[in-house]
Amino acid sequence: MGLNMINIQSEICNGCAACSNICPVDAIKMDYDQEGFLYPFFDSTICIKCEQCLKVCPVINEQKEQKTSRLRTFAAWSNNNEIRLLSTSGGIFSELALKVLQKGGCVSGAKYTKGFVVKHDLINIESELHQLMQSKYVQSEIGYIYRLIKKKLEEDRWVLFVGTPCQVVGLSNYLTKKYDNLILVDFICRGVNSGKAFKCYLESLMNEYDSEIKRVWFKNKKNGWNKFGTKIDFLNGEYYFADRYKDPFMVGYLKHNLYMRPSCHQCKFKSVERNSDITLADYWGVKLRDESLDIEKGTSLIIAHSEKALKIIDEIKSNIYLEESSLEEAITNNLCAIESTKAGQYRNYFFEKVKETDFLDLINKITDMEAKQ
Ligand SMILES: Cc1cc2nc3c(=O)[nH]c(=O)nc-3n(C[C@H](O)[C@H](O)[C@H](O)COP(=O)(O)OP(=O)(O)OC[C@H]3O[C@@H](n4cnc5c(N)ncnc54)[C@H](O)[C@@H]3O)c2cc1C
Repeated sequence: MGLNMINIQSEICNGCAACSNICPVDAIKMDYDQEGFLYPFFDSTICIKCEQCLKVCPVINEQKEQKTSRLRTFAAWSNNNEIRLLSTSGGIFSELALKVLQKGGCVSGAKYTKGFVVKHDLINIESELHQLMQSKYVQSEIGYIYRLIKKKLEEDRWVLFVGTPCQVVGLSNYLTKKYDNLILVDFICRGVNSGKAFKCYLESLMNEYDSEIKRVWFKNKKNGWNKFGTKIDFLNGEYYFADRYKDPFMVGYLKHNLYMRPSCHQCKFKSVERNSDITLADYWGVKLRDESLDIEKGTSLIIAHSEKALKIIDEIKSNIYLEESSLEEAITNNLCAIESTKAGQYRNYFFEKVKETDFLDLINKITDMEAKQ
């Protein structure tokens, strides 16, 4: 293994895996760096110099496709309370997924695998939908899912793909042509965190509770959507809950910006115009015509970028609350749609110390160091 062939600086590579998926001889493998992020590594002894990897990279190429322009913005949630409460925002992902599955299609999104490693998978049946639900705040491994998606599309199956904005562009570039039976969904993305930092956080909690973990549930709405917290269930029957201002993983992510992927700090895909059909997000600061409606079970922002998006929204209309809204209002409270977050001043310090320091202690120490300034 040598340097990656596409000669892309690690600060800008988003790890979308379009290059490893397109390589006809599997000369590119995604592998973890010291910080726990996946990068492409290239084996020059196998490479046939076809340069497909250079052509699909979303970072080194300007987008070939004309970016879609916004059509409509909505506030929405699932009318199914169980789905809404189990979801991160208003459960619109699940409603879209159920519709595609009912059409005989398949759905690709991120799920926890063994050891809570986050990977993209593809499901064909409703009973597997719960695995894809909820935001996992680490970068998901794409593996070779783009290849499988292409196969399904060529078999004329509907496919719903949900991923970060960079993964959506990675898939689009990999596919090279537009498919009528593909629905691309991205979300407003603050940035993805290191799987290594997440593992250290879980290990620290397992030590504290002296138990293995059964379930991780970010943005749990026990205290309401605006007061979300992290809930972790342990195999010994105990559970941990902490709100976003106290949970060390969220403090390191949202307050100190310690372990996001370097490329997220200069994300090329920040824009209200997207390559997706639909952008989902939390509708922070939502104001509905009827103020008595309960937004606290979670409210989604939907930005529909294409006619295809409007068509599927129309198809799920009877299962959701839907109210037309203004994009300007939505974005004012969610600047991550258009701006990258700067890396925290203790980012390098975190990765240096996390090898030898307990995660929870380290976050407390960094909080103290910041407070003293
Ligand atoms: C890393 C990350 C950062 C985000 N940042 C913001 C933000 O700044 N502002 C905002 O308003 N919303 C953000 N979101 C989106 C938001 O949390 C919800 O995912 C979105 O509103 C959809 O919610 P839902 O209720 O419709 O469905 P949910 O059931 O919550 O569906 C989540 C969907 O996202 C996919 N997904 C989950 N984790 C990942 C992952 N790590 N990588 C790729 N796909 C994943 C799942 O497969 C599923 O399809 C972020 C999400 C993630 C994963």
